[in-house]
Order: sequence, then structure tokens, then C-alpha cells
Amino acid sequence: EWLPFVDQDKEYVGFATLPNQVHRKSVKKGFDFTLMVAGESGLGKSTLVNSLFLTDLYKDRKLLNAEERITQTVEITKHTVDIEEKGVKLKLTIVDTPGFGDAVNNTECWKSVADYIDQQFEQYFRDESGLNRKNIQDNRVHCCLYFISPFGHGLRPLDVEFMKALHEKVNIVPVLAKADTLTPTEVKRKKIKIREEIEQYGIKIYQFPDCDSDEDEDFKQQDQELKDCIPFAVIGSNTVVEAKGKRVRGRLYPWGIVEVENPAHCDFVKLRNMLVRTHMQDLKDVTRETHYENYRAHCIQSMTRMVVKERNRNKLTRESGTDFPIPMVPGATDTETEKLIREKDEEVRHSPCQKPHEQTQHHEQHPEPEPRADPPSEPPPSAEVEHCVCKCVICVY
Ligand code: GDP
Repeated sequence: EWLPFVDQDKEYVGFATLPNQVHRKSVKKGFDFTLMVAGESGLGKSTLVNSLFLTDLYKDRKLLNAEERITQTVEITKHTVDIEEKGVKLKLTIVDTPGFGDAVNNTECWKSVADYIDQQFEQYFRDESGLNRKNIQDNRVHCCLYFISPFGHGLRPLDVEFMKALHEKVNIVPVLAKADTLTPTEVKRKKIKIREEIEQYGIKIYQFPDCDSDEDEDFKQQDQELKDCIPFAVIGSNTVVEAKGKRVRGRLYPWGIVEVENPAHCDFVKLRNMLVRTHMQDLKDVTRETHYENYRAHCIQSMTRMVVKERNRNKLTRESGTDFPIPMVPGATDTETEKLIREKDEEVRHSPCQKPHEQTQHHEQHPEPEPRADPPSEPPPSAEVEHCVCKCVICVY
């Protein structure tokens, strides 16, 4: 009699609301995202970040003069802003690397950037393994926009070095800076050259996930366009200008206006959409599932190696009779082990080599023999040898 009721109930159990529940919880909690910008100074990093998030993150920036920059080391600075859009909160952290590539000697100037990324992983690893795992602050870097100069012929050695040193730690998204200084043909050629070099040097930049086969054609085309866009040719501006009666973010030149958000002028909108609208979650997932996981596995591996090494070291000292006279017996109970230790202690008490002063005495009694060309394989029978448990060279003689 109750079957119809169950059937009716089966029609709608209610798990269809799960996405809503997740959505509500995430919105309440808010989102966070950490973006790193790297590349030579003056390539327009700060201007682009301000244009991307419509903020002024660099109000207090102090620029160094040429002399100060000669010996400058790479600094890491962090700016955080809370942005809200339609009730959704985003805590955005921008990590900047002023001084990168500025000094006369730039050997290994990527090192402090790599160290910074590792430190964030380390902090997360510590917090995660600690007692209180609630409210862990996640400072891991989710994406690194790497700025490539529009003035060179493709990648410079420093670019290759930086990207190779960091590609296994962070999602690298290369951008071609100040694209308004290049003609469309030059942009096209440079992009091809850079893509070829990335391939040639085995640099693993962030890979956009593959499109599901059941996606509609429009989506697939957009996805392909995005992939073909690498490196994004970008233009930044902190000023609003008037173009065709409309106020737009752009750069005003005597020969015309370059509009930051005009897809015919540059890939700014594509980059912003990718970072914010379409791939932010994927960048975070890849950071967690690939880069952090690599770091974690590495950490655990070296910790295990250290423990094994330490154990072997202890075992060796125990076997040599200095620490514990015998190695611990696996599976032996405490009392059994203690009994064995006591027996062995008793045994070694008669040994002349266990205590330092006795050892000195003993060695004094047996002065170092003259070195022999052919030491006998069997020690000559002697009363001393029978009593000695330490098997040192002197006793054997
Ligand atoms: P950063 O040192 O990499 O942060 O570079 P800045 O953002 O401070 O920019 C350095 C200079 O380049 C400033 O004079 C900017 O106005 C200018 N600049 C920034 N972005 C662009 C761009 O897209 N095109 C051009 N032509 N100049 C830019």
C-alpha cells in the first residue's frame, strides 16, 4: 500500500539542490585568488593590474633610480584588495616582483621568486599538518603573469631561465607587454616565435583544460581562440579617454586612441575573461592538485629519507656498541629488550674497549703495530683476542 508513496517521493529526493547549497556556502565564505606578476620593470605590470581589476594598487610605490638598481635584489611585495560584485566577495592578492631583471648581474634572480612560492607552500603544508586546520590562510600563488618585452626578438635568456625554474611550481601565463608598440603583423609574428621557443625550450606553461566534446560549437570556437592567443598581447592604461563619444580606458596618441578593452586592439578582454570569468577555478585547482601536490610529495619524500637515515645512523651507533650495545629487536617487548640490554651490558662490562678511559688504557697496553704489507687474514691466537668484543684492529693483533 505504501509503494505509490515511495514512487512519488523518488521523483524528487532533493539532491538537485546541491549546486545551490554549494553556491550559497561559497558566496558566504567569499573567494580568494593570488596573482603574481613578473617580468622586467617598466613593461607595464602595475598598469595592467590596475586596468584588470579597476583598482589603484600601486599608490605608494617608490621607484628606484638607475644607481640604486645596479645592485638591487628582487623584492617580493604583496597587495591585497577586497572587491565585491553583485554580492560576491573576492579577496584578490597581487604579488609583485620589483627589481626582477634590473640589476647588472641577473644570474639566478628568479631564485627569490621561486623561494617565495615554496615558502607559501611550506606554510600551507605546516598549517594543514597542524592541530587547528580550520581557517587556514591560503597564500599559495595561483597564477603568474609573465611579461615578455615587445622590443626583443622572442624570448630573452632571462625569460627562458625564469619560466623553466618556475613552471613546476606555478601556473605561468605568458603575456606580450605593451602590444600597442607593435603592428598587428608584428604581434602575430612575435606570438608564433614565442610559442615556438616555449616548445623548443621545454617550458610548461599553464595548459587550458580540454573542452568537453558535448559543449556547443560556439563554446568550442571560443576555447580554441583562447588557446591560439598565447601569449596574450596586452595593453594597459590608468587613464580614461574619450573615443567616438564614449569614455574608455585607453592611451591617447597624436595619431589616435588605443582602447584597452577593444578586442581589435589587443587581447586584454580575453585575458581578463580567462583569469576572472572562465579559468580562475581551474587555476586554483591546478595549483592545489598539481603544483602543491608536487611540493607536498617532495617534502614527505625528503622527510622519510631523513627518518630512514637517522634510523640507520642510530642502528650503526648501537651496533658499534657506543650507544646501545645491541640493536633493538623488532617485535620484542620492552621487558625482553631490557633483558637483552642488561645481558649485553653485563657482557661488555668485561670488555676493555667500552669506556673511554679503559679504551685508552687498553690502547696503551697495545701500542700501534708497525704497518704490514700483508696483514694476516686470521689473527694469531691470543688470550686478549678471545676476551675482546670490540674487534678493533689493535685487539686483533
Ligand atoms: P612596471 O614597472 O612593469 O610596473 O611598469 P609600469 O606599469 O609602471 O609602466 C611603465 C611605463 O610604461 C609607464 O610610463 C606606463 O604609462 C607605460 N605603460 C604601461 N602599460 C603600457 C602599455 O600597454 N603600452 C605602452 N605603450 N606603455 C605602457
